[in-house]
Amino acid sequence: MTSPSQISVLRRGVMLVLSSPSGAGKSTLARLLLEKHPEIHLSVSVTTRDKRPSEVEGIHYHFIKRERFEKLRDAGDLLESAEVHGNFYGTPREAVESALIAGKDVLFDIDYQGTLQLYDKMRSDIVGVFILPPSATELKTRLERRAEDASGVIEKRLKNARTEIAHWEHYDYVLVNEDLGETFRSLEAILAAERLRRERQLGLPPIVERLDQELAALTD
Ligand code: 5GP
Repeated sequence: MTSPSQISVLRRGVMLVLSSPSGAGKSTLARLLLEKHPEIHLSVSVTTRDKRPSEVEGIHYHFIKRERFEKLRDAGDLLESAEVHGNFYGTPREAVESALIAGKDVLFDIDYQGTLQLYDKMRSDIVGVFILPPSATELKTRLERRAEDASGVIEKRLKNARTEIAHWEHYDYVLVNEDLGETFRSLEAILAAERLRRERQLGLPPIVERLDQELAALTD
């Protein structure tokens, strides 16, 4: 017979996608979520962009050359890919598939183009969360505070923010990141609820069947 602990493992993983314009707090939220929920698998993207001083190869991104990116993309090894701010980004397929098969939830920090591709391919597994900054000035301040990008880059990212924000309506949830703690609690609530969706709880049929048999035995 299946024990309750075995049953709780039988859950289809949530593919939790976070998108926002650069500087809205998405990376911080992703980091907090992974710190508190180490069971979540982070999808580490490949990118052709230069590494920032604070970034670590294999942790934040796999930094690769354009030719390698094109090879991976053309071979179908990327689940989605897009050009963002003049650089190429993509989600390695295999790591995500292995995590999902192992019943893990997977977190994605990708832009709207990638999200739309994932929605197309795996609609029922995706939970899309869009993070909005409270204001344009706050967004600019956050980008400047990060101070890891040249000012030309910051300007480009502010311009691109309009394009990114224009796609907010495609997402399942939208959070305005006014207060980081509050936004984080909302994100956790979304994850908790999505984990409990009936379709994801693959262990339910045996539980219901057992209950039915027990009730039948009590009432016969
Ligand atoms: P950054 O260069 O600041 O790390 O990321 C720039 C943008 O690219 C962010 O909006 C980030 O979410 C997005 N991004 C990062 N990895 C991927 C990816 O694998 N696919 C797509 N479509 N976007 C990504």
